[in-house]
Amino acid sequence: MVGTGVGASNGVLVKGGAVLEMASKVDTIVFDKTGTLTKGSPVVTDFSRVFATDADESEEQQSNEDYLLWLLGSLERSSEHPLAKAVVEFAEKQLADALATNPFTQPTNFRAVTGRGASGTLLGNVSVAVGNRAFMTAMGCEVPPKTHQVMKRLEQEGKTSVLATVDSKIVAVIGIADEMKDDAPESIAFLRDELGMDVWMVTGDNASTAEAIRKRVNLPRNRVVAEALPATKFQKIISLQQDGKIVAMVGDGINDSPALAKANVGISLATGADIATEAADIVLVSGKYVKEVCTALHLTRSIFRRIKWNLVSL
Ligand code: ADP
Ligand code: MG
Repeated sequence: MVGTGVGASNGVLVKGGAVLEMASKVDTIVFDKTGTLTKGSPVVTDFSRVFATDADESEEQQSNEDYLLWLLGSLERSSEHPLAKAVVEFAEKQLADALATNPFTQPTNFRAVTGRGASGTLLGNVSVAVGNRAFMTAMGCEVPPKTHQVMKRLEQEGKTSVLATVDSKIVAVIGIADEMKDDAPESIAFLRDELGMDVWMVTGDNASTAEAIRKRVNLPRNRVVAEALPATKFQKIISLQQDGKIVAMVGDGINDSPALAKANVGISLATGADIATEAADIVLVSGKYVKEVCTALHLTRSIFRRIKWNLVSL
């Protein structure tokens, strides 16, 4: 069940005995959302074109949808982000046979900004970007109110909405759904009610999506931090530690690794990014269930209660 050292093949991999003692003292736990509380296999559910003027919404423009999807698929193929994978799969499905004669192309000037999005140049002179509002705003691209409304509607459904731009013009809103792990609410309740922990969620996703997920996992509003860049996640750990808390961080992504390394106990999922498993003290080998976090923390407490008890009774 509990393996120490690198090489345990199932359950929980703990990197050294000192981790066990620290884990038994944890009183505060911070969860990442995407891939940690959610399944991390996002699917595009909505693809909504944005036109600069109503006149643009002509048949001719509509027929360009395949070209747009081809551009977006070509760009996102270079990104390792789970949302990028969802965009590529969607484009592949829509384009189907057309890809045989016209396969995706390789972008130049490819740039991925953690927690924000990706951009690149296609066909030598078409600049394409996919990412969140902050990413587009940083590139000097204003989000029109109508587009903002489309995003809000998706986010209220708990979906992540990202924007796509071509030559700095917003051309589409993409709605992406990532199902919650079934055991997320009960696991959070267990950590809070049975182990008495203070439970937080810190996510790079936008505030409205975070709010929809917060309600589903039944966390108080003041226990959620949204639109968090890797540095924000890291800072949150420090500020909790400064309040005297012993903090565990649970995450799967590149964006979680500074926080995982800073936490008193970093817990990563074997299904996550390599850098996250390297930064962590405990690796959940299956990574499919949030319950594994409960098992790991509950077990370390029991072990240390038993050790103390044995010492007392010597
Ligand atoms: P989380 O903290 O919830 O795991 P991330 O920090 O990985 O989320 O990502 C935050 C946000 O950055 C995403 O919700 C998305 O809006 C945007 N993003 C980052 N990379 C990409 C990409 N390649 N394609 C689309 N959106 C992206
Ligand atoms: Mg994540």
